Amino acid sequence: MDRKYVILVHGGAGDLSELAVHSDWEGLYYSSLEEALRIGERSMQETGKGVDVVRAVIRHFETSPLFNAGIGATVNADGSFELDACLMEGRDLSAGAVAGLRHVKHPIDAAYAVKTSSEHVFLAGEGADLFAAHNGVDTVEDNMYFATPDTMKWVDEFKARSRKNGTVGCVVLDREGNLVAGTSTGGILGKKYGRVGDSPVVGAGTYADNAGAAVSCTGHGEYFIRHNVAANINFRVKMMGQKVGDAVEEMLFHELNAEAGNGGLIAVDRNGDFALDFNSRGMFRGYLYRDGEDSLHGAVGIYREMRTI
Ligand code: ASP
Repeated sequence: MDRKYVILVHGGAGDLSELAVHSDWEGLYYSSLEEALRIGERSMQETGKGVDVVRAVIRHFETSPLFNAGIGATVNADGSFELDACLMEGRDLSAGAVAGLRHVKHPIDAAYAVKTSSEHVFLAGEGADLFAAHNGVDTVEDNMYFATPDTMKWVDEFKARSRKNGTVGCVVLDREGNLVAGTSTGGILGKKYGRVGDSPVVGAGTYADNAGAAVSCTGHGEYFIRHNVAANINFRVKMMGQKVGDAVEEMLFHELNAEAGNGGLIAVDRNGDFALDFNSRGMFRGYLYRDGEDSLHGAVGIYREMRTI
């Protein structure tokens, strides 16, 4: 496959019940996904580095109230917000992860700071917030900064509704052949304080290895952790020689299913072969790649079919 670079994004998977409640949101999701790809493309033109692309794309999603990351994040059972994120680079397996953040505007920046400015991989809770603040990451005093009128309604409604979709992720094969993966989330609706899902767990919701694949997952985190989904896909590609699409299909439809492990994921390998798939009703997603002839190809989708952009 002759692809100069590949950018994949997701904005969460599930039954997408929020679209049934707000039918006018569909267009907003399509434009935001397209915007995410354009931001990624711009960043690729500027630096050519996957890590910059992943950060720029995820910052865009964390700023949008449509997605379950940053502003618009889903609420805990007690009505507060705790955010998780992870960033990993395939060339050296360097990774940074944060969980339970309450005061960081862009959790993906905190994950990046852990990766580049600490000797650790995973920081949680108050320490993670403090570390981010000490390392120049933008913080907010008030945890309600992440609230939107809708998230406040969910506090009352969460018992009747299974979950709010919209965890965000981005995986990239960059111009230098480096694979990078990032994921950011508010977790699942009504989660108990202190609960951490798969998104920030290296190997569960996020993984990147230049000898295998870059993967970002979304879905029922408890199952994705138990099945070590992202690392499993990497293993299948790297050690078993499976094609990315086959590895993804086996994990989503054989290891997991819509009842036990409802969700989806995006994955790309070092040749630029990629998959965006889900066992749920839908997944907000998009891809953009530049081929050997220097032409750009892209599409965005919510349900099965994708729209060319
Ligand atoms: N996987 C996330 C979690 O369990 C939620 C999601 O992707 O919707 O925290």
